[in-house]
Amino acid sequence: MRIFLLLIFLSIAISAYADTSAMLEEADSLRLADPKKAKQILDDLDRESLSAEEQYTYDYITIYLSTILEQNLGKTVKRYEAFIKRIPDSPTKVRAMTSLLALSAYKGHWRRSFTLVSELTSLMNRIDAYEVEPDAYNGLLLFYNEVEQPDMAISYAQKIFSHPAATSYHQCIALTEQASNLAISEPAEVSEDDFYDAIELCSAVPLTYYVALNYNNLLNFLIDKQAYTEASLIISEATERIEIIDFKYLTASLLLIKAKLKVAADEPELAKQYALQVLEADVDKEYRESLITAYSILANIAAEQQQYQQAYEYEKKHRELSVSLYNQKVSKSLAIQEARFDLQAKESQIDLLDKKNQLLTTESKLVKEQISSMLLVIGLALLLVIMLLFWSYRNRKIQKRLHYLASTDHLTGISNRGNFSEKSKTILQSAGKSESSVALIFIDLDHFKSINDAYGHQVGDWVLIQVVNSLNTIISGRGMQIGRIGGEEFGIILPDTGSIAAKDFAEHCREIIQKIDTFDTGSHFQVTASFGIADTDSAGYNLDNLFSAADLALYQSKKYGRNRVSCYEGDNIDL
Ligand code: GH3
Ligand code: MG
Ligand code: MG
Repeated sequence: MRIFLLLIFLSIAISAYADTSAMLEEADSLRLADPKKAKQILDDLDRESLSAEEQYTYDYITIYLSTILEQNLGKTVKRYEAFIKRIPDSPTKVRAMTSLLALSAYKGHWRRSFTLVSELTSLMNRIDAYEVEPDAYNGLLLFYNEVEQPDMAISYAQKIFSHPAATSYHQCIALTEQASNLAISEPAEVSEDDFYDAIELCSAVPLTYYVALNYNNLLNFLIDKQAYTEASLIISEATERIEIIDFKYLTASLLLIKAKLKVAADEPELAKQYALQVLEADVDKEYRESLITAYSILANIAAEQQQYQQAYEYEKKHRELSVSLYNQKVSKSLAIQEARFDLQAKESQIDLLDKKNQLLTTESKLVKEQISSMLLVIGLALLLVIMLLFWSYRNRKIQKRLHYLASTDHLTGISNRGNFSEKSKTILQSAGKSESSVALIFIDLDHFKSINDAYGHQVGDWVLIQVVNSLNTIISGRGMQIGRIGGEEFGIILPDTGSIAAKDFAEHCREIIQKIDTFDTGSHFQVTASFGIADTDSAGYNLDNLFSAADLALYQSKKYGRNRVSCYEGDNIDL
């Protein structure tokens, strides 16, 4: 999807600026429909006969065309970099920087992207860039989308809506991104009409890719709020729009939506067929989110049909993909945070150099005025050293904080999923060498959604914290590790423990959770949890296998009435 967005975006960036030369204009208008012909026109044109300004536009279109014709993004990036170095401040420079921003973000050059954003915004403040502003805003919007800063993305969408030079081209993209960002960050603020508005506008442009994307976003929005009937009503018109585009990401996503609708309609066989089609549609595993949900649906259906071996296989695939997607996301977000931090550090370094300059000027004045007070100079130097020390201390503190944020669940303060997996892996490796047993307990709160629905999300959060506090009172000092696996799901890994002892311990955990007193919330209700246990004696020392086995046992506890403990023992589950 991203290369597609990139090309669409680059095409907008170039469309805005009308040039004086007729041939240049023609090359401009043909750049997407027939890039080869556009290139031919540029080749026929005598660059030297153009005015300086026209030459810049000529060069910009040439670089733009090379993105499509050569498909060597690395080379194109270098050309843009050289171009923006030699061109004076102008609207063409804004366009070139905007295109370069899209490419840099696409290539994952986050440091360069963040400095470009600050250079681009300061350039727009310096010059009159009225006509190209909507393009630049579109570029910044897509960039902030990519680095997952939805608030910034939405603020640029707002700028586009109120900009007189924005065309329906710009507004289609802005509306689409605003609706999809809000659907994630503030779902209560979004309604179906927001998607329909975007569909109507994008159909008029026409931007068929965005029409299809909006249908896909709308369906996912409806399914998230369990409006299955509404989703079923538009599925065939959405299919029509998405099939025209024939784009793997959207095709896989649509099949998954169909599978979810069949699950909701309690038609497991059809759901299974659609889920299997998702796997076929994306054999290269490019869009892992869809695959992960497809495997999870398949595992649930197989378990329902008591095909445990099959369920186990699907669950294993589900886990493998989840872990690799998780790792990919963490490393991307760490790289982004690091790049942002670097930019801040650079800015404070510049600040420091400025201050140093000021100190030197003061010093020379002192000499000129023949006030040779050595003490003062030493004091100033000392101040400089203190500032340097403070700056490096702050650096280290921010690094530590970044590490903490990346490994800790902010609500409960325990390890997050990634960190828990890492710790478990270390325990399993050393246990594997000494052939000692390790047990894993998965805990999932029962009917937790109903607690949220009945007493509010804040009470739900309170319950999660109480559960962790209660568990912490019995696990501390035993070499065990606890982590939040996701939502209302926790894991405890127990070194030197087999499934029998783990079961006793899990029973203990079950009892203390059941005893949680909800008086402080102002309401009385019962909190219970279901438990799944697996140990290395039956599932081996591989982390993924152990996780899958514990998950299967947990599933059994849910199935047979909740508030109970089940153990995985090879192909059997002991209830
Ligand atoms: P079951 O016992 O069968 O597992 O049912 P359930 O309702 O516990 O499970 P389900 O997966 O349907 O719902 C889990 C809910 O947990 C849905 C989600 O809104 C809620 N949840 C996830 N993370 C948080 C959180 O951090 N805080 C709160 N308050 N709720 C959360
Ligand atoms: Mg759950
Ligand atoms: Mg639950």
